[in-house]
Amino acid sequence: MYKTKAYAAASATSPLGSAQIPRRDPTAQDVQIEVLFCGICHSDLHQVRDEWKSIMPTVYPVVPGHEIVGRVTKVGAAVKKHKVGDLVAVGCLVGSDGSCPQCKKDLENMCANGVFTYNAPDKHKTAPVTYGGYSDSIVVDEHFVLRIPKNLDPAGTAPLLCAGITTYSPMRRAGVKQGMKVGVAGLGGLGHMGVKFARAFGAHTVVFTTSPSKKEDALRLGADEVVNSRIADEMQKHAGSFDFILDTISANHDIDAFINLLAVDGNLTLVGAPEKPMSISAFGLLMGRRSVSGSLIGGIAETQEMLDFCGKHNITSDVEVIPIQKVNEAYERLLKSDVKYRFCIDMASLKSE
Ligand code: NAP
Ligand code: ZN
Repeated sequence: MYKTKAYAAASATSPLGSAQIPRRDPTAQDVQIEVLFCGICHSDLHQVRDEWKSIMPTVYPVVPGHEIVGRVTKVGAAVKKHKVGDLVAVGCLVGSDGSCPQCKKDLENMCANGVFTYNAPDKHKTAPVTYGGYSDSIVVDEHFVLRIPKNLDPAGTAPLLCAGITTYSPMRRAGVKQGMKVGVAGLGGLGHMGVKFARAFGAHTVVFTTSPSKKEDALRLGADEVVNSRIADEMQKHAGSFDFILDTISANHDIDAFINLLAVDGNLTLVGAPEKPMSISAFGLLMGRRSVSGSLIGGIAETQEMLDFCGKHNITSDVEVIPIQKVNEAYERLLKSDVKYRFCIDMASLKSE
């Protein structure tokens, strides 16, 4: 076991601050990584503030961070995929049982024994729970360590590990392609990646935003149209016309307003995870045989496929790179929808702590 620097929150109401955390020495299957960049996901904020306490209560201290890019510093004797010096990535998962029907289908994200990168019971008992990427160094089973295409910028790549795969996976499952009309609700970290993928897959892409100031950016990111979701008339013009809508909104909102925009047999997939339950009118679904579903990140093979797709199409996240000392300010800005379009921590800033 060794100690490494990190940023942690001591309670749901404390700011994040400097801390020392334990990491296990790499086992035969493990890769030790020096963290270079870590994206800030709205899920980090939800969990630091214990907003998901009914589903996954936060154990303190919590070290968030599941959009990790780093350099391999050590590998265990049995490691085959990675070597010292490689630039690699780690997302939301660091473990699964490997033997259940879901794992056998490469759906580690659906494994009942999946281990999240932070705030999950630590099977290695190095600490009560796993600690995430707001830290100098992390040790991860090689199966959960991804390769990064060489042409991609490391800071812009980090958010692909959560915002990227979370939007890529449901769009792939929905068969998003040319000829389809696709909506992306909420233009934040997930939403802006959703727009890039919908565009890359060739769909007619419409952004729904509550921030009129984001219109130009939405068009630049690849949207064909932008709708202010707070203006009923603008929404009404699109009634019954969407094949697929990806809902990335982080706060409670009126889902029916989006369901009514779906065509017959259209689907709205929720990836946003607001704190409180939201209501849905039965009639919005009955009329038009529409469906609502959910999606959680993606499996490891699909995450690698997404990274390779991004390499081929030169897709990265639009990031505002910040030092770790600005993380609490960044959380406040996230709450105001003031992010363009993902904060990414330059972990070199942790060295001075
Ligand atoms: P984010 O960067 O904060 O973006 C969320 C966006 O939602 C905002 O930029 C804003 O877009 C919109 N929004 C915020 N409050 C709103 C409100 N009251 N009404 C309508 N729209 C509102 O967050 P993120 O990192 O993309 O994450 C989005 C959600 O997905 C979070 O709940 C997060 O926990 C969840 N998530 C889920 C998964 C998964 O696997 N399912 C993975 C990662 C994250 P506009 O300014 O354009 O309106
Ligand atoms: Zn995330």
